[in-house]
Amino acid sequence: MQFGYTEACMGHDTGDRHPETADRLRAIRQQLARRHGVEYVDADPAAVEAVTAVHDAGYVDDLREFCADGGGNWDPDTVASAGTWEAALASAGLAQWAAERALAGDDGRETPFSLGRPPGHHAVVDDAMGFCFFNNAAVAAQSVVDDGAAERVAIFDWDVHHGNGTQDIFYDRGDVFYASIHERGLFPGTGDVDETGSGDGEGTTFNVPLSAGAGDADYLLAWEATAAAIERFDPDLLLVSAGFDAHRHDPISRMQVSTEGYGRLTDAVRTTADETGAGLGFVLEGGYGLDTLSESIATVHETFDGRSPVEDDGDPNDATRELLDEVRAAHGL
Ligand SMILES: [Zn+2]
Repeated sequence: MQFGYTEACMGHDTGDRHPETADRLRAIRQQLARRHGVEYVDADPAAVEAVTAVHDAGYVDDLREFCADGGGNWDPDTVASAGTWEAALASAGLAQWAAERALAGDDGRETPFSLGRPPGHHAVVDDAMGFCFFNNAAVAAQSVVDDGAAERVAIFDWDVHHGNGTQDIFYDRGDVFYASIHERGLFPGTGDVDETGSGDGEGTTFNVPLSAGAGDADYLLAWEATAAAIERFDPDLLLVSAGFDAHRHDPISRMQVSTEGYGRLTDAVRTTADETGAGLGFVLEGGYGLDTLSESIATVHETFDGRSPVEDDGDPNDATRELLDEVRAAHGL
């Protein structure tokens, strides 16, 4: 894969006791250094205008001033430092890079993956939350629509948390599809099956709130339904909001996805992108176990480097099957 990486993302300092630290990117780069075929690309930061295309300009100004004053706790979970402003622009710019490269035809071993932080999917139109300041995937999706590179974009979010910010930004939009598989009941508490979009966006929001304890087979079954909805939407671009906090050893969730499971999920997502003719790019979200985060990303990379994921013979649980009947019914699938 081509990994987008920018040094400015290291300058977002959340302190010593926060799970979302620069050590995450250090661990990923150390792990990727042991793998074959890894390429790094630097990218320009996002222009402020690209950010205000999805965020309220007053909020963006407030954040700039907050960081210029040295930062601090924006809310109890979400911490900024003097370097956060530049890191947030860099992180959004990396996501734009991934979207642009995917639409330019980079695929297979050239598939783009942006390694930005802070993450983005909780950032709503007019506020930061959940460690997120700018909604990187949303900035990227909006910018390729605005510059005419894509007419329709699908964002698939496999982070263990629901991407409430991405959902909110595009809730009434018919040209951006948002799908999330997440753990029900976790922060921020949104993402029910009946949140399906409104107005022009009716049907373009797709939520699969799995029960705690779901593993590879549950995620793959959830992806089958999600893939059917994405195929029907027929996007030009499929962006994956790729968090790795559903891993069975991640410290902040109760899900049971394995490292190999991320490889199988990647393989399934790639197949759907190929079949719909959509460009495919990845944007980093969460993932807080340094080993599980870095090994899972290396597994995603190797899936594009020619390695076939190992099958396992687990079955989805009954609660997942029932949930997916509900999801399919809500979307007429
Ligand atoms: Zn998360």
